[in-house]
Amino acid sequence: MSKNTNDLQEMRHSLAHLLAAAVIEIYPTTLLTIGPAVDNGFYYDMDFESPISEKDFPTIEKKMRSLLKTWKGFAHKEVSVEEARTFFADNPYKLELIEEIHKKGEKITLYTSGNFTDLCRGGHVEDMQTVPADCFELSRIAGAYWRGKEENKMLTRIYGLAFNSKDELETYKTQQEEAKKRDHRKLGKEMAIFEFDEDVGAGLPLWLPNGGAIIEQLETLAKETEFAYEYERVRTPHLAKENLYLTSGHLPYYEDSMYPPMEYEGGKYYLKAMNCPHHHKIFGAAPKSYKDLPLRLAEYGTCYRHEKSGELFGLMRVRSMQMNDAHIYCTEEQFADEFKKVIDMYLYYFKIFGIEKYQMRLSKHSKEGLGKKYIDNEELWLKTEDMVRKCLVAANVPFVEAENEGAFYGPKIDVQIWSVIGREFTLATNQVDFAVPARFGLKFTDKDGTEKTPLCIHRAPLSTHERFIGFLIEHYGGNFPLWLAPEQVYVVPVRETNLEKAKEVYSSLRKLGIRARIDLSNDGFGKKVRAAKNMKVPYTIIIGDKDMEAGKVTLESRDKGNLGQLNADEVIRKLSEEISSRI
Ligand SMILES: [Zn+2]
Ligand SMILES: [Zn+2]
Repeated sequence: MSKNTNDLQEMRHSLAHLLAAAVIEIYPTTLLTIGPAVDNGFYYDMDFESPISEKDFPTIEKKMRSLLKTWKGFAHKEVSVEEARTFFADNPYKLELIEEIHKKGEKITLYTSGNFTDLCRGGHVEDMQTVPADCFELSRIAGAYWRGKEENKMLTRIYGLAFNSKDELETYKTQQEEAKKRDHRKLGKEMAIFEFDEDVGAGLPLWLPNGGAIIEQLETLAKETEFAYEYERVRTPHLAKENLYLTSGHLPYYEDSMYPPMEYEGGKYYLKAMNCPHHHKIFGAAPKSYKDLPLRLAEYGTCYRHEKSGELFGLMRVRSMQMNDAHIYCTEEQFADEFKKVIDMYLYYFKIFGIEKYQMRLSKHSKEGLGKKYIDNEELWLKTEDMVRKCLVAANVPFVEAENEGAFYGPKIDVQIWSVIGREFTLATNQVDFAVPARFGLKFTDKDGTEKTPLCIHRAPLSTHERFIGFLIEHYGGNFPLWLAPEQVYVVPVRETNLEKAKEVYSSLRKLGIRARIDLSNDGFGKKVRAAKNMKVPYTIIIGDKDMEAGKVTLESRDKGNLGQLNADEVIRKLSEEISSRI
């Protein structure tokens, strides 16, 4: 973290103290808990005697600003556990925290600014007078369980935004406004892309025909690309017996994220949370020689994860997901080449989707963690990490390295992407796996006749349909490019007399696989055109008397406006070309 970021985080946390102090002045019976900095400001969780609402924010903010004038630095004092218990005798939350700090053998410290003292580990600005009074504001209220546990009391969380200056605060708010307009949950509903239904269950999206059309296009792209890269397609069931996941190690380590088992025929069956174990079984189904490698098994596999209901979020956090998955089994010698091809595929996709800003993060092992957190083979770790690093450098991909963040069985590569309005998304995680193939006893016979275990690369460049389409809706603001738009063309006859010609054009479009729709309603012409605009349809073909007299149609583009009169054949050719170019 740069010095700047640190300073900002310290200011944000200091403002959490200021918020708590203001609340205590106005509502003295409130019990305070914790108040950390977050990446756009700060929050404080509090237990109010009677509920407050966002209508109370101006009063609290006013108090914060008047207290700010009286605050200077933060005085630090180390106290004994007894002193701390006495000081916070009326606050069970703080008492719980004190006992925890005490048990860990850590120092108990109090920080005071103005007349307000709080239990805190530190990390404040040196002088509160350097904090501009207009660089922060309270933003919203949310419920939050004490310590994030559902069995605990629900507290009131007050969020605040805080930036270096009022200007930065305003810029952030404008960006947020734009993001709100593009919110995939809002646009997904307006454009009839997906729905959730209580009877189906939370976090289990239903894809409507428009969503289905987008999915078809993404899968076609993935299948064409993977075919060209010499992948083989497989299909696996949505559930498997307990033993498979014991072998893979998902049980018991990953059990919390899996749906509870179904018991029948004397066995336990689990919904699959990952496709890998199934693919490993396919690899192992027949003996392999070095000539069979690399073997690349691909599947748009559906996985189920038991995300907590409080953590579900639109399409971004769901319980069923269709993953652009594949596992590449290769020898050590083949690894660098295979990994490079995976990167190339990412870059190819980024270009298609106009993703200009991205970053990869290489998560590595730590020496201390070998044999505990990480497979005990330092040589292999270093070698693999170096191979990955070289590939990233060679591909000229921006990346950072993170020590001690790898997976148990090999380095991870996380991919972050930014939408056109600068929102960051985690796209996917790739993993290099040198342990699990061994757990499954996967082998190949090498040139010298010895049996060896292959390496496995897990990769999912297009993430899951859920997460990726959620991203795309926001990235495009619903204005999908022609090839991906759920509805590509509306054919609009102006009057009854234009109907026959309109039907003819419509039918030629459908025959070419173009997702066209004809508006046969009795609505006026203006209303029909507006309907196309509302659905963000890329093209509208208008057929009126004047067009028919000229033997032409009028083409309107969502992005470029009226393109004038053209021959129907010409329009169809233009659209077909644009679709196949995927621009
Ligand atoms: Zn503090
Ligand atoms: Zn996998």
